Amino acid sequence: MLREEFGEKVYKLSLDGGFTCPTRDGTKGTRGCIFCAGGSGDFSIPAGKNVWEAIETAKSLVADKGARKYIAYFQSYTGTYATLDKLRNLYTQAIRHPDVAVLSVATRPDCLKDSVISLLQELNREKPVWIELGLQTIHEETAAYFRRGYPLPVFDQAVKNLQDAGITVIVHMILGLPGETPEMMRETAAYIGRSGAQGIKFQLLHVLKGTDLAIDYASGKFQTLSLEEYIGALELCLESIPPEMVVHRLTGDGAKRDLIAPLWSADKKTVLNTISRAFERDGVIQGKNWTVTRNEER
Ligand code: SF4
Repeated sequence: MLREEFGEKVYKLSLDGGFTCPTRDGTKGTRGCIFCAGGSGDFSIPAGKNVWEAIETAKSLVADKGARKYIAYFQSYTGTYATLDKLRNLYTQAIRHPDVAVLSVATRPDCLKDSVISLLQELNREKPVWIELGLQTIHEETAAYFRRGYPLPVFDQAVKNLQDAGITVIVHMILGLPGETPEMMRETAAYIGRSGAQGIKFQLLHVLKGTDLAIDYASGKFQTLSLEEYIGALELCLESIPPEMVVHRLTGDGAKRDLIAPLWSADKKTVLNTISRAFERDGVIQGKNWTVTRNEER
């Protein structure tokens, strides 16, 4: 997709804008989402003061990839959770860097005020702006367990507002959340498919050291997925989304030093090879069941 749109490889630079989250600063909670070890931006470069400097540092870390264009990705914590002035300053610096082709911001649907969307809309006229929304599941009982802090209609409204503003939306979902069956995961993927979002990111539930999830895991409250179970759920999800939806990720890997389970996820190369062999074996085609799932009622 990136090659088609930009004519060459485009590489993602992970930046940390110095944000926090409403589920961490006391607004909606203080302990964050149950699985979160720190904003899922472990490899992000601090960009609070000088964004161009941070971009140059991040570029130097991927110099061997041979890319000339980049996605400036504010990955850590909630990337729209700050004053409008701060956001304008950070985003404008990032988008005006000559090597940046896309501004991408990871955030929560409940942190997208009209003024923020107007800012994103304005920037989207300079270069493409992507917003990545952490939904993770459509099932309220799971969302309550992991302390997401907003109900599903807030996600629906955020996607609508972003789409009305012409901004590309990518939705994150997690496979393997405690208590969820493969069918429940498929329902989430199908819902995201129907939401109008252009992209989806699949992530595996990791149990990381220092999280409250690790306590529940240690006490035997749930088990993590095996690689085969993960692939089975992923296949169901892929077949239930639109054929044209851009899949930005098929799995994810957390910081190895903090990983408690599942340990197989630490070997990314083997995981990706196993996934692609399984897709061939099972004849997986993205969107194969889309004609059915697009008419499903929740
Ligand atoms: S998962 Fe996202 S919203 Fe939840 S605590 Fe971590 S950074 Fe904040």
